[in-house]
Amino acid sequence: MGSTLEWETEMIRISDGIYAYIQATGKWFINNAGLILGKKDTTIIDSLSNAKMADNFITEIRKITDIPFGYLINTHHHSDHIWTNHLFTGAKTICHTNCRVETLKEMSMNPKFYSGFFTEIDFEGAKVTPQDLTFEKQLTIYQETEHALREIRLVHAGAAHTTGDVFLYLPEEKVVFCGDILFAEPCTPFALMGSLYGWIHVLDLLSNLDADTYVPGHGPLSGKDAIYKARDYLTFVRDEAKKRFEEGLNVYDAVKEIDLGKYSRWGEKERIVGNVARAYSDFRGEPPGIPKGGLIGIMTRMMKYRKELEG
Ligand SMILES: [Zn+2]
Repeated sequence: MGSTLEWETEMIRISDGIYAYIQATGKWFINNAGLILGKKDTTIIDSLSNAKMADNFITEIRKITDIPFGYLINTHHHSDHIWTNHLFTGAKTICHTNCRVETLKEMSMNPKFYSGFFTEIDFEGAKVTPQDLTFEKQLTIYQETEHALREIRLVHAGAAHTTGDVFLYLPEEKVVFCGDILFAEPCTPFALMGSLYGWIHVLDLLSNLDADTYVPGHGPLSGKDAIYKARDYLTFVRDEAKKRFEEGLNVYDAVKEIDLGKYSRWGEKERIVGNVARAYSDFRGEPPGIPKGGLIGIMTRMMKYRKELEG
């Protein structure tokens, strides 16, 4: 696990009642999800970008069980993880407080904002539905199973990929659903809306958990090695950006100078633009979240860079 560079879209059984729904390519807006099966209800991890993807996921769930949806956890506010919440009928949605705040902002942007940047993405059936329940630090679900109570810990360990990331830790089964705290190789992490330093810290924390299986938000099902690789990428960005920051280069000139080296084999290389922008914001001591200069400006430059990379 971890070094696979191509993988299928499939529901993978991790252990009794615990499944990862992994989507092939893992590119922009193609995220993973999860299913934790209880005796009377199910806990779902993340919805998907559009109705077609969500229908495929729900079809896979229904091959396994008819038990109704109990909770739907949104690991963070990004569109691909929340846009089909409304299709998980009956589920109570749960997320971090900051995730819900950002979800409400997404309502004013709607899928049309993103289709301007990502013309290849299908947003049919996508709709923003704010969550029902929020928490600050940690919330535990005790899920009734055939044998015992399953402990599902929802943890916010500070800003990382966004300001409202949550991971799910199942201590008995040694499984972590990471949301986008983990982009597994070959998916490039994207730090623009979080904190570079914060993210490195949270990956350290994840690597220290007593766990064997890590379900990434994008990319193939993984072990600890994927956590180390994502952390290595972020420290690479930090160190390369720091040199240029100290030389007084602006974000875009810094990006042009950075040789991605082994990371040039990863997907979504253009994310270096957003990542360096967030690194500069960290260096200036600004709070986590979208850096000064705003989302539209940085996204526009990032997509311009993507076109340049495509040549
Ligand atoms: Zn995300």
